[in-house]
Amino acid sequence: MEEEADSCFSSRSERKAQEKAKILQRERERKIFKLVGKVLKKPEGERSEEEAAVLELHRDTVEELCRRELRRNLLKRKQEEVFDDADELKHKVRQLALAIKQAKNLVVYTGAGISTAASIPDYRGPNGVWTQLQKGRTISSSDLSKAEPTYTHMCIRAMHKEKLVKHVVSQNCDGLHVRSGLPRQALSELHGNMFIEVCTSCSPVREYVRLFDVTERTSLHRHGTGRKCGRCGSELRDTIVHFGERGTLEQPLNWEGAAHAAKTADVILCLGSSLKVLKKYPCLWCMNKAAIKRPKLYIVNLQWTPKDDLAMLKIHAKCDDVLKLLMEELNIHVPSYNRTEDPIFTIATPLKPEEACSHSRDVIAPSVERGFGSGHTEVSTETTSVQGGWFGRGYRKGRTVKKKPL
Ligand SMILES: [Zn+2]
Repeated sequence: MEEEADSCFSSRSERKAQEKAKILQRERERKIFKLVGKVLKKPEGERSEEEAAVLELHRDTVEELCRRELRRNLLKRKQEEVFDDADELKHKVRQLALAIKQAKNLVVYTGAGISTAASIPDYRGPNGVWTQLQKGRTISSSDLSKAEPTYTHMCIRAMHKEKLVKHVVSQNCDGLHVRSGLPRQALSELHGNMFIEVCTSCSPVREYVRLFDVTERTSLHRHGTGRKCGRCGSELRDTIVHFGERGTLEQPLNWEGAAHAAKTADVILCLGSSLKVLKKYPCLWCMNKAAIKRPKLYIVNLQWTPKDDLAMLKIHAKCDDVLKLLMEELNIHVPSYNRTEDPIFTIATPLKPEEACSHSRDVIAPSVERGFGSGHTEVSTETTSVQGGWFGRGYRKGRTVKKKPL
């Protein structure tokens, strides 16, 4: 018994000693990293003999720190917004116009960058939602319902009307493509539409288009909006697909339309998307086809995208600026957005009187001057911080940056 207790004691003290040694080792390494890092920051000519010797002694640490610096710089470059100069832009747009004229099946992929002109923040731009949340800041936004289709939305609509664009695949939830007048069968809103709530108990799924953001109370894996289906009484849910969720709703996601469009596309034009999310959907890029048979890729984005190397052409400019030049090249007249013709007012289902207080978001009014009698227009949203709903909590999930021990 005594022996057993002894061995138990010794193994425990051994373990303790080992733990202690590990801690001391980590502490030593941390000090070396700190010291080497400090020396490396000095210009080579200003280093003392002693400091040079430190670098010589800890070559592995020097290499590791240099590798980290390279990675940091690369990441920084990828996040930078780059602008082509005027001549280059014109030249590139001419090439793009030619490709569009020759395309048999042009599909357009859109991201938040096409909505920034509508005062909706993009995700990964310097002031984007994702970037801000990464920095631990909360997002302030002017009311999303006040946003209107941008010039780019109207151009896409016009190009579809001219039969130049077959299908639009968007990762935006702002509903602005629908509001620009783009027919819904020509659109896949892969991450949902903030104005649409559905009853999945009804078959087929019953859709309720509203004139306000229905996602006020919803978040990751919590989609109930609190309102009820007029037909069966089940709770309605939003259509938003958060990070980490798989969207299975037929509409407004329309995956079938998106996959078919990608399969038959010979040209894909990506507008204002970092493609970091879209790249994860292999069926959008025809990855099962031989590289040579895949659609030709044209990208308009200010920042780096993971598909840049595969693109025929990468244009660094704001979408509205590119589209303005492009419409001149294609000789297409683009009507400006007219609220009285916004299809949302004809497809929307009005709330029942008892539901009038079921939300506190602003309601889109059919005309700017006239209120829409919701009783909610007095709510000032200028300082509202975007938390619940279609961006906010869902994006925050899993984004905590853990500091690696040195
Ligand atoms: Zn129902």
